[in-house]
Amino acid sequence: MLEVKNLKVYYKSEEGIIKAVDDVSFKVKDGETLGLVGESGCGKSTLGQAIMKILPLNARLYGEIILNGQNIIKMNEKQMREIRGRDITMIFQDPMTSLNPIMKVKDLFVEIVRAHFPDISKEKAIEMGGGVLKDVGIDPSRMNQYTFQFSGGMRQRVMIALGLVLKPSFVISDEPTTSLDVIVQAQIIELMNKLRDEYQMSMLLITHDLGVVAQLADKIGVMYAGHLVEISSKENIYYNPKHPYTKALLDSIPNTDINDKDLKYIPGSPPDLGKPPKGCRFAPRCEYAMDICHEQEPPSFLIEGSEVKCWLYENSQDLNNVNVGGTND
Ligand code: ATP
Ligand code: SF4
Repeated sequence: MLEVKNLKVYYKSEEGIIKAVDDVSFKVKDGETLGLVGESGCGKSTLGQAIMKILPLNARLYGEIILNGQNIIKMNEKQMREIRGRDITMIFQDPMTSLNPIMKVKDLFVEIVRAHFPDISKEKAIEMGGGVLKDVGIDPSRMNQYTFQFSGGMRQRVMIALGLVLKPSFVISDEPTTSLDVIVQAQIIELMNKLRDEYQMSMLLITHDLGVVAQLADKIGVMYAGHLVEISSKENIYYNPKHPYTKALLDSIPNTDINDKDLKYIPGSPPDLGKPPKGCRFAPRCEYAMDICHEQEPPSFLIEGSEVKCWLYENSQDLNNVNVGGTND
């Protein structure tokens, strides 16, 4: 359903070219949720914006993004406007800044529905919006309110409802729960799980929160400094991680044991994407780094159902394995 092939997003800046997404490939099948995780600045949001083609003007896009058989990189803005919201939608992380505060909720629905289907009456658009509002747990009578009259969790629900009103088959969700407290976060996760099944949608879930992907994703992609360094099933990532960065990321999840004072973290910081190191971008922070790691960028190796961009697996590649990511089915 969505296939991303050798995607590159480079930003032109005063400091030079920032390689925010660099040769990333993966697939998301019908009904599947791919969680994309990684430290701040690794290129997650850029990747989501590239798929929506809502990148800033200083960005250049290379590669292929095939959605329902069409390469959207080749589409012009008019064609993109037709599919955004109808076939593919993005739910953003901060509803307070993304929702127009001077419009009533019903008018937000009317605007979205009629941008795609001008023949649909205002009344019908409001009725459609009411149906989705109910699905996200908000009484349709609140249609007449402004979004500032809603709590943070309720605003996130409105945001989700607006994204789903045209029943898109693919949803990109960028940090959907970041600004919410843990109780509301759990409610939103439960809601998204329910809606994913009811609306039969595929999802790309962008988050730095490994707890959120554990609950929502089928497959997980781990990004580091613009590269997709590991992609596999959720079970493999959590119980059999391969890439040293994936392992370090999982080790750094704080636990709630008050006697455990041993908070682990990954030493150092991600590289400047304007001047990434030669070879593996994780090498300066990797405890397993070998000579080759500082010289040559590793390709992706297939090992026990995972695609891993790391020289450690050069000699153990499983050629009969099922490729879960970008190149095969
Ligand atoms: P976060 O979780 O903090 O949002 P992220 O993983 O989503 O981070 P991006 O926001 O995609 O990362 O940023 C990837 C890289 O691209 C970063 O180095 C960032 O500074 C850079 N970047 C993002 N937008 C621009 C821009 N408009 N011009 C230049 N560089 C940019
Ligand atoms: Fe570490 Fe080398 Fe693997 Fe990079 S390629 S993650 S430096 S072992």
